Amino acid sequence: MRLSDYDTGHQMQARVMESDRITPEGSGDEVRHLVLRVHRSPDRFEAGQSVGVAVPGPHAGGHEVHFRLYSIAGVSRGSSPEESDLELCVKRCFYVDEFNGEQYSGIASNYLCDLKAGDQITLSGPFENAFRIPPDPSANLLLIGMGTGIAPFRALIRHIYTKLGGWVGKVRLFYGARTGLELLYMNDKRDDLKHYYDQTTFKAFEAVSPRPHMEDPIPFEDLIRNNQAEVRELIEDPATFVYVAGLEKMIEPLDKAFIDMFGSEQEWRRRRRELESQRRWVELIY
Ligand SMILES: Cc1cc2nc3c(=O)[nH]c(=O)nc-3n(C[C@H](O)[C@H](O)[C@H](O)COP(=O)(O)OP(=O)(O)OC[C@H]3O[C@@H](n4cnc5c(N)ncnc54)[C@H](O)[C@@H]3O)c2cc1C
Repeated sequence: MRLSDYDTGHQMQARVMESDRITPEGSGDEVRHLVLRVHRSPDRFEAGQSVGVAVPGPHAGGHEVHFRLYSIAGVSRGSSPEESDLELCVKRCFYVDEFNGEQYSGIASNYLCDLKAGDQITLSGPFENAFRIPPDPSANLLLIGMGTGIAPFRALIRHIYTKLGGWVGKVRLFYGARTGLELLYMNDKRDDLKHYYDQTTFKAFEAVSPRPHMEDPIPFEDLIRNNQAEVRELIEDPATFVYVAGLEKMIEPLDKAFIDMFGSEQEWRRRRRELESQRRWVELIY
């Protein structure tokens, strides 16, 4: 679906309750955890959905409104049952213009990262749930993410262990970042995922780049290869759902790891198509 296809008519006013940098100051990347309070009951939101942010213009590109989507990283009750606190995990983006070599700030991410407690913004949605929670709690969840791709998984893991009271199937999180400092919700600054480490069905596996300053890809190949037996067993189990989230650059190393595991590109493509047709392989890539 293209961004222009989203129906932005369902709007809600949100008040910023909190904006916290969750990458340490020493990290080159600024990622913030935002808590936005909206006047809607938490039952109206699901882990895995996203909300839209429309930044009013005019913008340098000539467009009036700049619209971007952000995954809900958590939902909790606000100060009353009719209010929800939506949590977002936003990376402040910059990009370099290929023509003039100048660096520009991403519009929506900088708008969100500059917000202060008490500011008001307009959100739209919530929009489609990429990663549905299977109705059968004995289903396995293989979650593979990179960078801010952790956001929907954080919401999902929290939902199944705290709201549903537990999960019988295996939940395996494979998560990559450039450096240990950028392992979001799993670093010294904020380690929310530690709450689930004592759950017998939950296990997290991490990968960081060996040479982060060289912009090397995250070594997903090694991460999957080092746990090949477990990942293969999960993929072959018809009760497993594989959810992949994050930046486009994670796809190539991930693809290589699975081609390696299945012995040939053709065999992996065939297997993946099968999983996709059963909605057991779902990607949220941006
Ligand atoms: C369903 C969905 C969910 C998303 N969830 C999140 C989320 O939870 N958190 C989040 O931070 N982003 C998320 N995104 C990406 C987000 O919508 C924006 O694309 C991103 O914030 C850049 O928008 P911008 O307006 O700041 O930049 P623009 O002004 O549109 O500039 C885009 C530039 O930033 C680069 N870019 C885009 N996303 C990233 C990124 N995350 N890291 C590095 N460079 C990037 C692009 O390649 C391009 O060069 C999601 C996207 C989709 C489609």
